[in-house]
Amino acid sequence: MRIDIVTIFPEYLDPLRGALLGRAIERGLLNLDVHDLRRWTYDVHKGVDDSPYGGGPGMVMKPQVWGEALDEVCAGEPPRLVVPTPAGRPFTQAMAHEYATESRLVFACGRYEGIDQRVIDDASTRMRVDEVSIGDYVLVGGEVAVMVMVEAVARLLPGVLGNPLSAEQDSFSDGLLEGPSYTRPEVWRDRAVPEVLRSGNHKAIDRWRRDQAIERTFARRPDLLAALPPESLDKHDRAL
Ligand code: SAM
Repeated sequence: MRIDIVTIFPEYLDPLRGALLGRAIERGLLNLDVHDLRRWTYDVHKGVDDSPYGGGPGMVMKPQVWGEALDEVCAGEPPRLVVPTPAGRPFTQAMAHEYATESRLVFACGRYEGIDQRVIDDASTRMRVDEVSIGDYVLVGGEVAVMVMVEAVARLLPGVLGNPLSAEQDSFSDGLLEGPSYTRPEVWRDRAVPEVLRSGNHKAIDRWRRDQAIERTFARRPDLLAALPPESLDKHDRAL
């Protein structure tokens, strides 16, 4: 997969080149290119923003600069363009899976009050464009939101995770939150690892994990449980 990110703070994205994703880049599983938006400015100050039409606080990112940047970065086979914004559709694990099947993604990091809407409307005539939010809060800029999305997508690419089962058993994969995990030692600060996990009885372990997932989801995210199709819950689940 190829990912291009356009930003006024290219160095902000450096952490994406470390750890698991760094290895994915080295192994050629992910091709990541970060572009400085100011490359497409013409004035001496390399300005990317201007005051908003209609008045109000803050500045808006200029359409000319973004338009030329996206024309160049999105040239060739049209990519899927992702524009982070708190006013977007919520980003979910299902979207991460969907994005992981794309051959090319381009992310456009906004700053200030965001990007002039005509840039998004114009790009939408040539490619698929998603305005996406990573949560109900407002960040300073799109870079952190893009890091969140790129990390969620890249770990799903074939070969990136050492054990692909990890992604299959993560929270949200079956519509539930994952239950608690434990490692050695068996007892730590007088707290013992639940006995069933040490029993070697895999059927009982699977049942325990499922019960824990349902109880945790019920306590923390009842909305997820309510959204599950009734047939995905067995008799034992419903009795909890
Ligand atoms: N005026 C905008 C609003 O209220 O919808 C907020 C702009 S925010 C200060 C600046 C930039 O940060 C946005 O253009 C977007 O790129 C990014 N951003 C902030 N919060 C975000 C969120 N929850 N999800 C995705 N991107 C976000």
